[in-house]
Amino acid sequence: MAGLFAKLKRTEEPSTSVLGADAPLVPIESTDLSRRVALLDSLEEAGLGWFWASDATGRLIYLSNAASEELGLDNGDAVGRQITDLFQPDDDPTSEQSQRPLKFLFAAHSSIGPITVKVAGKKSDVWWEVAAKPQTNTDGEFTGYHGSAKDISASHERRRDAEKLSKYDSLTGLANRHFMAKQLDTTLTAFRSAKRSVALLMLDLDRFKQVNDTLGHPAGDELLKQVADRLQRIIGDKGEIGRLGGDEFQVMLPDMDDRGDLGDLALRIVQMLSQPYSIDGMRAVIGTSVGVAIAPYDGIEAEELVKAADLALYSAKCEGRGQYRFYSSDLKEGVNERARIEEDLRDAILKSELQMHYQPIVNAKTHRVECMEALMRWEHSERGMISPADFIPVAEDVGIIREMGAWALNEVCQQVTRWPSSVRAAINVSAVQFSSDDFVKVVEQALKSTGVNPAQIELEITESVFIGDLERTFRLFKQLKSLGVKLALDDFGTGYSSLSYLRDAPFDKIKIDQSFVRGCSADDSNNPAIIAAVVGLAGALGMETVAEGVENKDELETVKKQGASHLQGILFSRAIPPQDVLARFERGELEFEPTGPDRYRHERRTEFRRIGLIHDDHRYKVVLRNLSKTGAKIEGLLDVPVGTEVVLDLGSGQLAVATVRRSEGFSQGVEFEMHLISDGAKGLCTRHRVSPYQIEAAGRPLASLGSDAYAALAGNFKSTSKAFMEADIGAMTAAR
Ligand code: C2E
Ligand code: CA
Ligand code: CA
Repeated sequence: MAGLFAKLKRTEEPSTSVLGADAPLVPIESTDLSRRVALLDSLEEAGLGWFWASDATGRLIYLSNAASEELGLDNGDAVGRQITDLFQPDDDPTSEQSQRPLKFLFAAHSSIGPITVKVAGKKSDVWWEVAAKPQTNTDGEFTGYHGSAKDISASHERRRDAEKLSKYDSLTGLANRHFMAKQLDTTLTAFRSAKRSVALLMLDLDRFKQVNDTLGHPAGDELLKQVADRLQRIIGDKGEIGRLGGDEFQVMLPDMDDRGDLGDLALRIVQMLSQPYSIDGMRAVIGTSVGVAIAPYDGIEAEELVKAADLALYSAKCEGRGQYRFYSSDLKEGVNERARIEEDLRDAILKSELQMHYQPIVNAKTHRVECMEALMRWEHSERGMISPADFIPVAEDVGIIREMGAWALNEVCQQVTRWPSSVRAAINVSAVQFSSDDFVKVVEQALKSTGVNPAQIELEITESVFIGDLERTFRLFKQLKSLGVKLALDDFGTGYSSLSYLRDAPFDKIKIDQSFVRGCSADDSNNPAIIAAVVGLAGALGMETVAEGVENKDELETVKKQGASHLQGILFSRAIPPQDVLARFERGELEFEPTGPDRYRHERRTEFRRIGLIHDDHRYKVVLRNLSKTGAKIEGLLDVPVGTEVVLDLGSGQLAVATVRRSEGFSQGVEFEMHLISDGAKGLCTRHRVSPYQIEAAGRPLASLGSDAYAALAGNFKSTSKAFMEADIGAMTAAR
């Protein structure tokens, strides 16, 4: 209060000078009650400080008028209220100020303050600094408090904002990197002793940079805010969300270790964040990839867990974006694999390891080939065939796709000059290639230098070109059309085509993505309706439709019935090498007959993986030949009776209880007690794993799961004789 009085003194100075030095001095004696009260009144009125008093039971018996007014209370409203009611502790858990047990202080009749309290008046967010001294009567009995107060709402708000700045991301209000790391650290430490689990989700937005670059930074900021809102809606109070910077987000979920639930949640995040955003009347579409790691399974310390989630995220991105992925110890392998591809890709063109193969697209009525889709093949000198699904994304990431694309254009144009004039070639154009400045020039150059008829060349473009600079996209379409080439919209239905773009874009053809064709003959499928709708739409716009990926006769019948004008798929032919194409054409064979299975069968993955099988305290080595959600085919044990209960050790602590349902010699079919779940990519995994806490309880140090986690538990196997005879199927197959 010293400051207050200093101020008060200063304001009195002019009056003394007006009166002059010779005016008689009349000091306020401490006994002069009325003048002292007047002094305090003026202090109250100036709003520089207020006073309050309570009785022994904690009821307010006095509050400065100005203070009541500020709270929007009539003085009568305030008087009589409990002070612990009126003055409430700063309850913001994120506040740096430690929680003061206000009630405790009052109850103990201690000296108060100065402390910051939230005042429960009629207005919200009023903050006071209060101080008070306990009063006693002559007998030393507590009679209540005399206190002072002043409004500090403005400075409190500022300080809170500053505090938030250091903990919270100022753009989205989510926890920032620093705070998230701290929280993860303290949570993991606390949970370790309680043997609890924590799941960590790492998110990275797909194509955010494109939105930022084309719509501008303010739009990018707005997008991030909306992403944060959606995340908050999904996660609610189940966990803590943070933005680590840029377009990276993190979610920490205590007590989540069921990978089935986590997979569902991750999928929901992917789906919700992929819905279009509206920003200042503009439409933006992004996606997200999610990596999931769970403590203590995938990491004990924060650093290890974050690394695991990062690696899972990286893997999800490589798998084609818009996916989630669980961490598993063999992901490290995948990373190395990708690095090797990246390295070797640079040499692939020089070493002539790339080749274009061609898959026919036939007329649905005549089965006559009208177009051949050029598909890139890479025959690596050491590792054999590498799928374009594996190397095209890498080539896009490192930018080498431009060179590869230019090479492909020339190569295909060259080939087509030797084909009948009734057959066109379709060339895939990556969105990265499409976005390069010289793309039209590259096409023009290939057409000119080979002398191919431009009408025989078709460019397959995916919907992702609609996400970038639309004006440029449409300008390029025009320029390409004026070169005389045809345009096809590839993978229709998987991306984000707005129908209005489609109406204005000069496509000659829409290719209906395989995912709508796959299983379209099943009774409960709504794919036929989707195909019919696309066919109708294309017809109205004067475009052809190609049903991609027709594999069996059922699907053929369905897509034909829905009116697709053209067909492509292994039912007619796989992609074939250029010399075979030429030979066919020279023989005049332009028709492709459908040959293949009658109906669609649920995919069973063919595998060859050594796993463990546990039965009666024994662990056998078997080979996994076949794996689906519901069961597996194993080889390696002789004559295991039907009905036998076994446990398959699928590695990394994944144990699946199963019952033998079929048995023939060294081969058994088993059914899982609990279905496997998707790992987000192409793989399957168990919902639960052996917990590192269990392994710790068995006398081992606490560590994240390695690939042979179960072995750590299995020290106590008996040495009694095994029930089944084992054969090394791996060696047998390799020798064959
Ligand atoms: P896409 O453009 O959708 O090509 C069709 C893919 O489906 C090809 O895979 C083809 O072999 C496969 N396919 C055809 N019929 C069937 C069927 O009946 N069943 C199934 N399951 N698959 C079928 P491929 O050759 O592995 O190529 C994968 C992707 O790689 C292509 O998908 C395309 O996006 C990309 N790609 C391939 N070659 C090139 C290229 O030269 N340049 C660019 N930029 N991308 C390419
Ligand atoms: Ca294609
Ligand atoms: Ca396609």
